[in-house]
Amino acid sequence: MNLILLGAPGAGKGTVSKLLVEKKGMVQISTGDILRGAIKEGSDLGKKAEGFMTRGELVPDQLILDIIEEKLSKEKFPNGFILDGFPRTIPQAEGLKKIMSRLSIKINAAVDLIVDENEIVKRLSSRRTCSNSDCQAIYNVFSKPTKKEGVCDLCGSPVVQRSDETEEAIKVRLNTYKEKTAPLVDYYKNEGLLKSIDANTGSDKVCESIISTIE
Ligand code: AMP
Repeated sequence: MNLILLGAPGAGKGTVSKLLVEKKGMVQISTGDILRGAIKEGSDLGKKAEGFMTRGELVPDQLILDIIEEKLSKEKFPNGFILDGFPRTIPQAEGLKKIMSRLSIKINAAVDLIVDENEIVKRLSSRRTCSNSDCQAIYNVFSKPTKKEGVCDLCGSPVVQRSDETEEAIKVRLNTYKEKTAPLVDYYKNEGLLKSIDANTGSDKVCESIISTIE
């Protein structure tokens, strides 16, 4: 099963992807994680992407399409993959369709995680992420705090607020989402692939709804 996860920033795409990886052995492909890894490494890709990301803007489409084509053509996914945070624009969705046909791969569903806007702002501004790029565990100061303040439970690295999760950057990301990414819901409805899921509830319940909807 190959899935696209749609939804605003903070809708829970990353957390739900990790649950699907655990439960179904799928592979999570997160363009955000790949870009953050590239920035940490100081690679060319990271240098090109960093400014856009810190401001909460989207990285240019062609850069993202190249990352995805390389990943999908080099690796095998016996239990399928989850595209988390990609596509984010109509040109990316059209580019993905061409890549899929070149590689003879099929997308089975585009799952839209629907969350109220107030809840999204609250979730994003209270989120904390492990600074170790190999771990990237996600916490929340209200609903999932670390056992020791500021220290990751899993690997002991410092837990930080991402630079694109400040109030200013969150506003930009939500506006970018409405303008560029929300139109993908209609795009995938027309492709006959859209499945909408209420994601205001806890991530375990959201994951169960996804599995029962797609199976
Ligand atoms: P995420 O972790 O998915 O919220 O992504 C964090 C940031 O990475 C976004 O705000 C963008 O700057 C960049 N990014 C991630 N995925 C994409 C994408 N598919 N297209 C453009 N920019 C992206």
